[in-house]
Amino acid sequence: MNILIINAGSSSLKYQLIDMQDESVRAKGQVERIGIEGSNLKQKVGGLEYQIIAPMKNHIEAIEHMLKALTDSEKGAVKSMDEIGAVGHRVLHGGADFTKSMIIDDKVMDAIRACIPLGPLHNPANIMGIEACQKVMPNTPMVAVFDTAFHQTMPAESYLYGIPMEYYERLKIRRYGFHGTSHRYVSKRAADFLGVDAQKGYRMITCHLGNGSSICAVKDGKCFDTSMGLTPLEGVLMGTRSGSVDPAALQFIMNSDNISVDEMLTILNKKSGLLGISGKSSDMRDIDRMADEGDERCIMARNILVHTIKKFVGAYAAEMGGVDAIVFTAGIGENNNALRERIMDGFEYLGAKLDKEKNKGRGEMIISTDDSKVKILVIPTNEELAIARDTLALVSK
Ligand code: AMP
Repeated sequence: MNILIINAGSSSLKYQLIDMQDESVRAKGQVERIGIEGSNLKQKVGGLEYQIIAPMKNHIEAIEHMLKALTDSEKGAVKSMDEIGAVGHRVLHGGADFTKSMIIDDKVMDAIRACIPLGPLHNPANIMGIEACQKVMPNTPMVAVFDTAFHQTMPAESYLYGIPMEYYERLKIRRYGFHGTSHRYVSKRAADFLGVDAQKGYRMITCHLGNGSSICAVKDGKCFDTSMGLTPLEGVLMGTRSGSVDPAALQFIMNSDNISVDEMLTILNKKSGLLGISGKSSDMRDIDRMADEGDERCIMARNILVHTIKKFVGAYAAEMGGVDAIVFTAGIGENNNALRERIMDGFEYLGAKLDKEKNKGRGEMIISTDDSKVKILVIPTNEELAIARDTLALVSK
């Protein structure tokens, strides 16, 4: 069966068509500037590239163009829409209602809508993507895979904030965590790779380090704690996001510069992190290059990033009473060996010894020394494949 994976943003849409027989990617594409002048679609099928610039007023028109591209007689991946067996949608916020992926029906759609206040930037876009697909492909089964679902096993001491309980009870304010599909995929893959039974007292710390970054404590194969919170703003320093900040500092800035809550949140989400500290770039490759050339602000940005990641790794080892494996994934985690070396430096006391030569390798690998008590690994994430597997499992039932 071919499964179509959709990740819909407010003005963009990324997609992949995966053949589940061998889990190969048959097509990969993205639509940008939906509803804005210059809407365009780019798709790759093997070595063939399909590109168009055409008006796409909304997500329905974007999905129609995507299907045209996928079924194009020369550069497409399938002959007709009938060859797409199911669609898996990435949904950011599933609140506390969803602990696993779900077949989309009216009840599920209502629950995703009810989570809009918790994910105001992403859930409306995810809903637009689902509704557009339902309109254009009314007979194709669809599945929602939530970024928050894996983290629903956290105990209350991990997910409750130290604020009056009333806010949890009345407004559902708590830690939800994100990148759950990635943390679930890499923790399972790492356990398989190591040949360990992760369900039996195994303690893992997964570091998803990309433009957005989060750390997850995984105990017995389940999420025990994670660094992102009610929204993906909390936790470690990121490309443009601040990570955790003393809320009173925000009040200070807002009063002093007379800025609104919305403006403050834009600063925290879009102008902070590596970009805010360096004043130059949110991309770790740029930061590394300029830091290596001696740029003080880029050196500081890199140091802060390393420092905040170390803090979470240390905290999660303490919370779980130790750690058996530390896993790196996503753009920075998979590719930046120098940063991995900086992060792991000083963790020998925990029994985690990095092998600097192995750390220079690429792909799925163990990068700890043979005598390291704690295994250190790189596991490339594959959220699309995880979504496709969940979708296949649910529609096959
Ligand atoms: P992601 O959000 O997972 O796509 O990760 C984006 C981050 O990963 C950016 O800061 C990039 O600089 C970094 N990154 C992506 N690819 C590479 C690479 N090949 N080498 C070094 N850094 C990379």
